[in-house]
Amino acid sequence: MSAVSLYARETAGYDARVANTLALLQRAAAEHPMRIVQATSLGAEDMVITDLIARHDLPIAIGTLETGMLHAETVGLILQIESRYAVEVEVYEPVQESVVHFVKKNGERAMYDSIELRKGCCAIRKLEPLSRMLKDRSAWVTGMRREQSANRGTVEFTEQDDKGRTKFNPLADWSWADVWHYIAVNDVPYNPLHDQFYPSIGCAPCTRAIAVGEDFRAGRWWWEDEGAKECGLHVHEEAGELAPQVSMIGAHA
Ligand code: SF4
Repeated sequence: MSAVSLYARETAGYDARVANTLALLQRAAAEHPMRIVQATSLGAEDMVITDLIARHDLPIAIGTLETGMLHAETVGLILQIESRYAVEVEVYEPVQESVVHFVKKNGERAMYDSIELRKGCCAIRKLEPLSRMLKDRSAWVTGMRREQSANRGTVEFTEQDDKGRTKFNPLADWSWADVWHYIAVNDVPYNPLHDQFYPSIGCAPCTRAIAVGEDFRAGRWWWEDEGAKECGLHVHEEAGELAPQVSMIGAHA
């Protein structure tokens, strides 16, 4: 059964939410000319945002983090986006020396050994590349929604990250049904893993399918406590979420 047939549903206020999202993206592009990027995780929410940016020809760059640990299906979406929308996706990879050093010292499966090591891996493979994506930019766009987890329950449409950049979360009030209704109506390409009960998709070692009744992000870092389940991309430094060697940004994935 496909994710579209499982989740897509039009609910009250859907058209208004789409209109508000588009208006916010237009405002974001106008306020940050040539200095704004959509940091896409290539998940369903981010594909909706990419579709809106491309469909309305908004001057917002599209960037993603190729951690070296993504599923082939996820990496395949990069080319699909480029051919479908005729846009270039900026791909940021980790510094290979850092990866080699980390793996040599801590092993291939270090993320399962401790939260500290898991966050160390995220710091090298995600946070440092994200800092390059955001360098010289004054704003970024994410696909975070309040419904995704307790940690994200208070996500605002706009916020400041700890470097003073504006972070736009234009899907903050969207439901999972909204996301899939938009994908169905607009024939948006999406990761086929969503058809296999992966609602939230990250790196392969840290993502699993969920069972009926499990939380949306239950398949991410499932061996950790709920409160620790962020990679640091969307968590402020003062919350102590970032590994000490990467004091950089405030907050994705
Ligand atoms: S999600 Fe897992 S594999 Fe990916 S960077 Fe974080 S710890 Fe490493």
